[in-house]
Amino acid sequence: MLVYKFGGTSVGSVINMNHVKDIINTKGKKIVVLSAMSGTTNALVEISGLIKVNELSQAKHKISQLHQNYKSTVSDLITDKTLGNEVSSYVTSIFDALMNAASQPHSTLLHNTIVANGELLSTFMFSRLLQQEGLKATLLPALDFMRIDRTNEPDNFYIKQNLERLMNQTQDSDVYITQGFICLDADGQITNLQRGGSDYTATIIGAALEVEEVQIWTDIDGFHNNDPRFVNDTTALSHLSYDEAAELAYFGAKILHPQTVMPVRSLDIPLRLKNTMAPNAHGTLITNQIHGEGIKAIAAKDGITAIKIKSVRMLLAHGFLKKVFEVFEKYETSIDMITTSEIAVSLTIDDTTHLESITEELEKFATVEIDDYMSIVCLVGNQIIYHPDTPQLFQVLQDINVRMIAYGGSNNNISLLVNSSDKLETLQKLQRYVFEGDTFEV
Ligand code: ADP
Ligand code: ASP
Ligand code: MG
Repeated sequence: MLVYKFGGTSVGSVINMNHVKDIINTKGKKIVVLSAMSGTTNALVEISGLIKVNELSQAKHKISQLHQNYKSTVSDLITDKTLGNEVSSYVTSIFDALMNAASQPHSTLLHNTIVANGELLSTFMFSRLLQQEGLKATLLPALDFMRIDRTNEPDNFYIKQNLERLMNQTQDSDVYITQGFICLDADGQITNLQRGGSDYTATIIGAALEVEEVQIWTDIDGFHNNDPRFVNDTTALSHLSYDEAAELAYFGAKILHPQTVMPVRSLDIPLRLKNTMAPNAHGTLITNQIHGEGIKAIAAKDGITAIKIKSVRMLLAHGFLKKVFEVFEKYETSIDMITTSEIAVSLTIDDTTHLESITEELEKFATVEIDDYMSIVCLVGNQIIYHPDTPQLFQVLQDINVRMIAYGGSNNNISLLVNSSDKLETLQKLQRYVFEGDTFEV
């Protein structure tokens, strides 16, 4: 069995939904995980925000605009009369509930419930499209099997039990369609796996069923060697190892949700990235195999805050780091990068929810300096230190203020901390010197 996941652009229009239908119309049982149509989750987030601040007429306006879009998509997508009526009344019931929430001040309809509608809509429409085309397709509601626990980790036992139970009830089905992104929390409330979380849904399901392969279908021909939103002439990588892909996803490569690799890595299930718009392109195969040496790809993560903590005594006293880490542990704030000198430790965080309390506690035994609007630029590749350009990194980036540099945590990562305003230049310079062979003149 295979798991296929299609992202927002892949299901974002009638034409693309038909491409998806053709891609999955092959022999063998499969699970198809879908995102919301592109733009829908953003629109729902906005609607929820408007309802929250009681801007109800604006919220209603947005809801009816979105409803209009869906009405015209449904009429183009589903030509069968009975199925068309069924889809239209489903879509109307969703938009009626939203309108209702926007009609009463202080609605109790929760943000996560509003945001979940994007995936509910796309999967309902797509399942009926497949039925219209004569495929044996069943819609499996993610909220009947996908659950996270109190630590926000997937509840794997519950997921496996319930997913298998549901699939056994509809054994003659060839295609099981389900929603990405949405799930229940430990109290049974609707929640989600964070933005971009449909990728993660796909690998959680893949691991639960120990499938042959998980395929993530998107709008680009695989994992590129640099961020194509900021750099020209990036190229797709044919192979990556789990560690390389996980590191790049964690450090900002938007093509994969940061946690995607985790569930499949331990089970050695191949993860393949493919382009819905160019299905014949090779894409990227992610396995435990390591290919090549040196810098393979670069990614960047914004919204980073750097904290420099200086011991009030001249030298870093024995036990100092323990005290520092205990503060971050207490506030459940994870550290991304860390470097130390004799008198100070610098580290970075991306979650500043508890920054004030953290700073207060650190100031009991250290002086603290904080810099925000920073970005981590992460270079990834097996045995990265052996890349011919690695020793020259400082020269290549001599005009850029590199605030921190970390290597050695693993053999496949070098992380640089720069001001976010320097990110673009950093990525472009690295692209030219590392991948395009520009020579550096000393
Ligand atoms: P989907 O909606 O299919 O989940 P996403 O927008 O989440 O798609 O991810 C695909 C996008 O990720 C690409 O269109 C590209 O702009 C962006 N991206 C960022 N970094 C990379 C990278 N290293 N390789 C490929 N795409 C990347
Ligand atoms: N629809 C959700 C989002 O836009 C999840 C996803 O696309 O993966 O974030
Ligand atoms: Mg995505």
